[in-house]
Amino acid sequence: MNFSKTLENVKAYEAGKPIELVVRDFGIDESKIVKLASNENPYGVSPKVKDVLRGYVDKAYMYPDDSFYELKELLAKKYNLTSKNVVIGAGSDQVIEFCIHVKAKDKKVLVANTTFAMYEIYAKVFGAEVIKTKDDMHNLEQFLEMYHEHKPDIIFLCLPNNPLGECLDKKDVFEFISKIDSDTLVVVDGAYQEYASFKDSAKKIDPKELIDTFPNAIYLGTFSKAFALGGMRVGYGLADENIIKTLHKVRPPFNITTLSLKSAITALGDEEFVNYSIEQNFIEMKRYEEFAKANGFNFIDSYTNFITLLFENTKFDSTVIADELLKRGVIIRNLKSYGLNAIRVTIGSKVQNDRFFEEFETLIK
Ligand SMILES: *Cc1c(COP(=O)(O)O)cnc(C)c1O
Repeated sequence: MNFSKTLENVKAYEAGKPIELVVRDFGIDESKIVKLASNENPYGVSPKVKDVLRGYVDKAYMYPDDSFYELKELLAKKYNLTSKNVVIGAGSDQVIEFCIHVKAKDKKVLVANTTFAMYEIYAKVFGAEVIKTKDDMHNLEQFLEMYHEHKPDIIFLCLPNNPLGECLDKKDVFEFISKIDSDTLVVVDGAYQEYASFKDSAKKIDPKELIDTFPNAIYLGTFSKAFALGGMRVGYGLADENIIKTLHKVRPPFNITTLSLKSAITALGDEEFVNYSIEQNFIEMKRYEEFAKANGFNFIDSYTNFITLLFENTKFDSTVIADELLKRGVIIRNLKSYGLNAIRVTIGSKVQNDRFFEEFETLIK
């Protein structure tokens, strides 16, 4: 059968391997598997959200409020905006899709060389041409050069960047966007902003300041990372009313579930849990940095909940390491497909990280 031509060079997204697959393929007991591959919050669903959801399951037969009124109001309040500045997506992934759909269909998208794969996938699905900077990490000089050369319709800035973990300073980001014409949509993907702004206030992007200053910018946030609701699929976009109105034209009805909606609303009221998760994250990250130094390889200074370990100029090969760890029940992300001899490891809980260090050490001996 023939399919749309535009899909011919689209590669389906390769998600982190699920625990179930490792159970099936390697016969490892589920309780022995440590998944550090999808940047999930290792502290699980917050107790408050669990409580509320238990009492709420019998509402699952009903569609959610399609206006997502309460969630939008809460997000608007959190960010000092109005609900007209908010669109809700099934994960911020879906908001990325909306953005490309309304703005760059059959046009041009500019991204960093090594960044979140969904920008490129959705761009290609909608027939857009993807332009990449030369450097793996975000280099705003190169972004500006490529912008002038190619006049893209959308620019994606991933702050901090997945899968490398680096993050631009807010000041540089604002200076950059001020040089972009008002008809180019600038997407600031803040999936890990909670982590970055905790570690270094110079990285903190205030969505209100961003969209008040630049009516052509949109900020993306998600409940999947610091808020520990990856399985619930809730994300959002914050932008000028004009942009949001247009994004709503391509949003399918009831695009998040009744239970997802309730869990996101509840999670927003549980700051204590989020703050705890973020603090622990950076305490545990220190151990990865020390581990890398002790074993003679480099890492990228990370502003997120994962760390990228670099094996260039070492005897290690990231594919061998990823495969061997997998056989031992430790799932991490190999970055070979990005052309890097490196792995990305989600910062887990202390117990999970202990397992990683232990298995890695026996492996390299
Ligand atoms: C995880 C992630 C997202 C969004 O994930 P959703 O679960 O779809 O909300 C968006 N951007 C980046 C860079 C991510 O790592």
